[in-house]
Amino acid sequence: MVSAIAQSVHLSDVTYKWRPDLPPVLDISTFSVAPGERLFISGPSGSGKTTFLNLIGGVALPDTGEVTVLDSQLKGLSPAKRDAFRADHIGVIFQLFNLVPYLSLIENVLLPCRFSKRRHARAASEGGTPESEARRLLTYMGISESALDNRRVTDLSVGQQQRVAAARALIGAPELLIVDEPTTALDENSRQSFLEILFETVARNRQTLIFVSHDERMEALFDRHIVLSDINRAAQPEDIAG
Ligand code: ADP
Ligand code: MG
Repeated sequence: MVSAIAQSVHLSDVTYKWRPDLPPVLDISTFSVAPGERLFISGPSGSGKTTFLNLIGGVALPDTGEVTVLDSQLKGLSPAKRDAFRADHIGVIFQLFNLVPYLSLIENVLLPCRFSKRRHARAASEGGTPESEARRLLTYMGISESALDNRRVTDLSVGQQQRVAAARALIGAPELLIVDEPTTALDENSRQSFLEILFETVARNRQTLIFVSHDERMEALFDRHIVLSDINRAAQPEDIAG
């Protein structure tokens, strides 16, 4: 029998505050993402989007409630198990890309394979070796062969850095892809081609995509659009400011 998970991501009664003396930034009674769903989450700057993604990725733990990803309850895992779980199953494109400046482009893309045997094996089965898969992904993302071998991460344009970050998130086809405002610094053409490549890959691998942006123009591309404040009962900065 094929085992199927009911939900890729499920939150129930989650609250989160950055400091005990501050009000919660997130208070979410229930939220789910279906396997293979492409979900767009929008909200203004400071509304808690990155914090929300941190909870889904298990980088932060809720003060109350449960976050379940691919049937694993993240709170129930030890910190080491949670790190391993994230490396195995979640690809993240961070808002500031978080590339490692002293590693080559290929080495940056290969990082998840260093932390996850599963991603290593999947990358190898896709590309022959993880290195050739990293190379394939980078070229597919539009990084030229010569840039790929000769450029330093610190010499890349913002658009190129974003593509390296995307290749790193995609290698070894993790089930869940989390993308945090990746197009903020891109011009319109780069943004379009980046999104096309991302959507093609996600569809081919049947990955679940959670994509966050304050730019609502992108919503048409997705299966579903949520405005974070519609599911978040915590007071918003503008409410507090009055
Ligand atoms: P967004 O990604 O929507 O711009 P964030 O999740 O980054 O919003 O921030 C939500 C709220 O949490 C903001 O009020 C922000 O100031 C606060 N916040 C974010 N990161 C931290 C942190 N490391 N320590 C304390 N407060 C933080
Ligand atoms: Mg953010």
